[in-house]
Amino acid sequence: MALRTIRVMGDEILTKQCRPVKEMTPRIKTLIEDMLETMYDAEGVGLAAPQVGILKQICVIDVTPECDHPIVLVNPEIIELSGEQIGQEGCLSVPGKVGIVKRANYAKVKAYDEDKKLLAHDKGELQLVASGISGIPVFQVSRYISRELEMSKRPYIEVDFLPEFSAEELYEELLRRKRCHPKLETSYILEGIMNNKLTDAVLLKCGIGSRTLLNELTGKQCQNICAAVKCFRADVSETAGFDNAQVTSGGVSRSEIDFEDMSSKVCDGLYLAGEIVDVDGICGGYNLQWAWSSGYIAGKSAAGGKQK
Ligand SMILES: Cc1cc2nc3c(=O)[nH]c(=O)nc-3n(C[C@H](O)[C@H](O)[C@H](O)COP(=O)(O)OP(=O)(O)OC[C@H]3O[C@@H](n4cnc5c(N)ncnc54)[C@H](O)[C@@H]3O)c2cc1C
Repeated sequence: MALRTIRVMGDEILTKQCRPVKEMTPRIKTLIEDMLETMYDAEGVGLAAPQVGILKQICVIDVTPECDHPIVLVNPEIIELSGEQIGQEGCLSVPGKVGIVKRANYAKVKAYDEDKKLLAHDKGELQLVASGISGIPVFQVSRYISRELEMSKRPYIEVDFLPEFSAEELYEELLRRKRCHPKLETSYILEGIMNNKLTDAVLLKCGIGSRTLLNELTGKQCQNICAAVKCFRADVSETAGFDNAQVTSGGVSRSEIDFEDMSSKVCDGLYLAGEIVDVDGICGGYNLQWAWSSGYIAGKSAAGGKQK
């Protein structure tokens, strides 16, 4: 662990947007440990990664006097706010100053903690099909899911169906619709923004009847709809399997192959290429390129030509 320098007001990095954490790497773990140590050393109760110069969506909190209850939030998102409180507040990046700040009395936050492995994260056009979900973002994350399933773990997905709206913006829009169209049925609450069949699934998840009128919806139910749209969680029971796979992970171990000529280190005269090797890439033509490049080398080598 190490103390990091706390950036103070005026430092440009404090005004920049942070990127989400895609994978919980050892570097990220070290960053989290350092942030906690830095926060405790500065006698603060909260510290965000940009305050130590790292543009990642991570913050650490500990409001206990004993400093024994650290909370780590990775990729945090506020999904519910209610009430109001006014109090004195300071900030480690604004040293020596305190101010009276108005805050929500209650906040519900969705985030990963430092131990919960975020296996993969992707963005793109999701296809909802009879058997489950498909499309490029699903191809991108399925390799991680397959491995978890193979290890008898229970992976799950969380889908943000409307990433272009923040939770607050969506909530405001729902309240606006409720105000403007009080006699409309709830199944139309997301009309024009989201497919109606998907809205029905969201309402089902929230336990709200689709014939309920908008003026009968409570604020809490609107918040639940927002939460289900922004973070629709589903357990993954299986992948579509080998026969339906576009790319498969696994295969002959790379350690058993001489990449100079794609020959097997285990079996003389055997050359390997493409899918049979434990190499798989994300979408974007990498798998075809790998198949062509390795196939070219393996073919030349097998035919006796030197291929360096
Ligand atoms: C629907 C689909 C879409 C894809 N889209 C993309 C994409 O957009 N971009 C990308 O990079 N990758 C994509 N891929 C993956 C990519 O096509 C493969 O990674 C690549 O083709 C693998 O090449 P390969 O030569 O190793 O294997 P293959 O292309 O599978 O070739 C193996 C060949 O061996 C033959 N064969 C099998 N068994 C025997 C046998 N016993 N005797 C003789 N012949 C046999 C098969 O008939 C086949 O012709 C896609 C795959 C699929 C299925």
